[in-house]
Amino acid sequence: DPSDEPEVTRLLEGLRTGKRAALARAITTVESSKIEHRRRARALLQAVLPDTGNGVRLGITGVPGVGKSTTIDAFGTMLTEAGHRVAVLAVDPSSTRTGGSILGDKTRMERLGHDPNAFIRPSPSAGTLGGVAARTRESMLLCEAAGYDVVIVETVGIGQSETAVAEMVDTFLVLGLPGAGDELQGIKKGVIEIADIIAVNKADGDNASRAKQAAAEYRSALQILTSPDADWRPPVLTISGATGDGLDRLWEEIRRHRETGQASGRFNDKRHHQQVAWMWTMIREQMMAALFTRPDVKARLKELESAVGEGSIAATVAADEIAQMMGLGEI
Ligand code: GDP
Repeated sequence: DPSDEPEVTRLLEGLRTGKRAALARAITTVESSKIEHRRRARALLQAVLPDTGNGVRLGITGVPGVGKSTTIDAFGTMLTEAGHRVAVLAVDPSSTRTGGSILGDKTRMERLGHDPNAFIRPSPSAGTLGGVAARTRESMLLCEAAGYDVVIVETVGIGQSETAVAEMVDTFLVLGLPGAGDELQGIKKGVIEIADIIAVNKADGDNASRAKQAAAEYRSALQILTSPDADWRPPVLTISGATGDGLDRLWEEIRRHRETGQASGRFNDKRHHQQVAWMWTMIREQMMAALFTRPDVKARLKELESAVGEGSIAATVAADEIAQMMGLGEI
C-alpha cells in the first residue's frame, strides 16, 4: 500500500499541522511526472480528500499589466489581516514554453511574499495546458488541506487558460482597465461570458471617472449576454489594487456569490460537475500518455501521421489500427 510510505506519512503530518515546507514539498511531488512520485501523489491526494473543499476558490484573470499581482498583494493582505490564510497559485501556459513563469512570483507580491499567513507558488512549468491545470488543481487541494481557506488561482489571458482556471474555481474574477471603448481592451468576449464578477482596476486618481465609464460599458455588455446562472448576475465593480479602494466590496461580492450559490444548490452542482469533468480530463490525459509509453505505437503513429496527411490512409482506419495495437479491440 503506497499510503504506508513514510514520506507520504511525513507529508500528511506536515500538511495537517500547517507546515509550509511540507506544503511546498507536497506540491513538488504532485508536479513531478516520475512514476514513484505520481504514485505518492495519488496516495497523498486520496488521504487529504476529507480535509479539502472548505476553501474559497477564486480565479483571477486579466491582460498583462491590468494589475493582477498588485491587486492580489493588497487583497490577500487585507484577508490575512482579517485572520484568513491565503494561498496563491498560477496557471501560466507561457511558462511551458519559456521555462519561466510570469505569474505567482513572490517578488511580484511584496507584502504577501513575506506574510506568514500566505503561501505563493508559481505555475508548474512543464507539460500541456491540461497538465499544468491538473497539477494546479491538485495543488489547490493540498493548500486547502494545509489550512489555507482562500485559494487564489491567477492566470493571464493566453490560449484557453481562463477556461481551465474557471473550471477549477468557485468564483471567477475578470479584471479590466479604465478607458474601455477600445473593444473591451483586448479582453476576449468569451472571458466576459465566464466571469462571475468583473472589476475595473486602477480606479484611482485621474483614472477614477474613466474607470466608472468602463464599468458602465461592461454592464451594458453583460446585459446582452444571458447569464449561465439563473440566480446570479455578475456585478461590475471599480477597484484600485494600488490604494485598496473597493477591495472590501470585492470580498463582499465573492462571499455573496458563494452564499447565494450554497442556498440555491448552484455551488454544490458546480463543484460536483467540476470534479467529474476533472476525472474525464485525467482519463483522457492518461490514455494519451499511455500511447507514447509504447515505442512501437509511437513509431507507427509517426508513419500514420504522414500517410493520413498524404491521404493514403483514412483517419478512421489509422485510429482503429492504433486502438488495435493498444489492445482496445474494435470500437
Ligand atoms: P499584472 O501584469 O496584471 O500582474 O499587473 P501588475 O500588478 O504588475 O501591474 C502593472 C502596472 O500597473 C504596475 O506598474 C502597477 O504599479 C500598476 N498598477 C497596478 N494596479 C494599479 C492600480 O490600482 N492603480 C494604478 N494607478 N496603478 C496600478
